[in-house]
Amino acid sequence: MSSSSGSSSAAAHHQQHYRHQTGGSGLVPLAALIKEEARTERHSVASGESRISARDEDAAGVGNSGVGGEVAAETRLERPLLRYGCAAQCKKGEDFFLLRTDCPRPAISVSFPDSPHPTFAVFAVLDGHNGNAAAIYTRDNLLNHVLSAMPRGLSRDEWLHMLPIALVAGFVKTDKEFQSKGQTSGTTATFVIIDGWTITVASVGDSRCILDAQGGAVSLLTVDHRLEENIEERERVTASGGEVGRLSVVGGAEIGPLRCWPGGLCLSRSIGDIDVGEFIVPVPYVKQVKLSNAGGRLIIASDGIWDALSSEAAAKSCRGLPAELAAKQVVKEALRTRGLKDDTTCIVVDIIPPGQTIQPLSPPKKMSKLKSLIFRKKAKDPSQKLTKQHSAVGIVEEIFEEGSAMLSERLGPHSDGRRTSSLFTCAICQLDLEPSEGISVHAGSIFSSSSRPWEGPFLCSDCRDKKDAMEGKRPSGVKVL
Ligand SMILES: [Zn+2]
Repeated sequence: MSSSSGSSSAAAHHQQHYRHQTGGSGLVPLAALIKEEARTERHSVASGESRISARDEDAAGVGNSGVGGEVAAETRLERPLLRYGCAAQCKKGEDFFLLRTDCPRPAISVSFPDSPHPTFAVFAVLDGHNGNAAAIYTRDNLLNHVLSAMPRGLSRDEWLHMLPIALVAGFVKTDKEFQSKGQTSGTTATFVIIDGWTITVASVGDSRCILDAQGGAVSLLTVDHRLEENIEERERVTASGGEVGRLSVVGGAEIGPLRCWPGGLCLSRSIGDIDVGEFIVPVPYVKQVKLSNAGGRLIIASDGIWDALSSEAAAKSCRGLPAELAAKQVVKEALRTRGLKDDTTCIVVDIIPPGQTIQPLSPPKKMSKLKSLIFRKKAKDPSQKLTKQHSAVGIVEEIFEEGSAMLSERLGPHSDGRRTSSLFTCAICQLDLEPSEGISVHAGSIFSSSSRPWEGPFLCSDCRDKKDAMEGKRPSGVKVL
């Protein structure tokens, strides 16, 4: 398939969908969009204040509230200091964020009673659309859902190793639960877990997280799930039964970015969006990297920033500033470039070597040579990589990367988990299943070799239905009138 689905006959079809969704009022799609835009515009006048929050994490050994506050002797030497700031300019009131630096890692194994690093930090940006309910729900529930998908009693390395699976389960569970409430609206979710020097990012939608590593190389830790820019996602959506095309106005002219139909969303992945085809999935792209002990800076932001600034420009605009000022500076720079067109939210997190109190200023960037060196090659077996040394300054080690939308490729196997709960637990919603109820995530797939239909992970019938709908194997639950 290709973008030829945006032909005029297909476009006319899209228009049809949209007209139905606006209640058959006879509005042309463009008029409906403009009306919506005007409504949010008015709304923003009343709520267009700036929210600023910032907080310093204290140095190691001082207090116990922050990530930098570890007291175990072993960690005092190793653990980076986190310092962060968040700045936002509100236009529609649909951007939300999460800042947590004191999350306890659940149920440290009795086998590892002195396991170091018992806490981790979470930073997230949630950019809602068609209302704010999905963004708020995700902010309030996603972390718990990720943690509930984690096997108990893991060592720290095992915990990090299992995070990518738990993140997938947590995203899908959050989406399923929110949709079950019957509310419309959807959200992007860029969810960053920092545990020591290891950063794990899970993301749906187009709120980016970039890494400005020591040495001056800027890299993207997310992919943009935008139909306009992501060919692979366009192909996935069309293969799963969706249509991709632009809005068309009377006369056949096409306007705006590529959207999926039914629904008209520009994103190819999101949480929520019950009124959009189920091929718009909540399965996150996940990337896990380990920084060298030189540290680095993360910038996590909604598209209000990225529509105005490139990754490099955003990183460059705030180098040398402490995190809380850096976040304000990035927002300011985006507004200066493009004006306040959208909600604009930016979190800056500095991962600072112990013994320093501020992120050292990066030396000037040595362009492409350094950039190609910045990521070491991904290991075949990620668990091995966790034990390697990371002393080389400026080298970021890529531990894990996976973006497939297929749950059978994302949920297991849980071969190395010390799972103490029932063998038959739904890998998504964590419900206990009778042995006869569990359906292997591999069962019945026409794409896989189907050699493992009896192996876990298992899904309950509800989650199995959702998986099939996401992959276009049964008619989508969306009601296309
Ligand atoms: Zn389930």
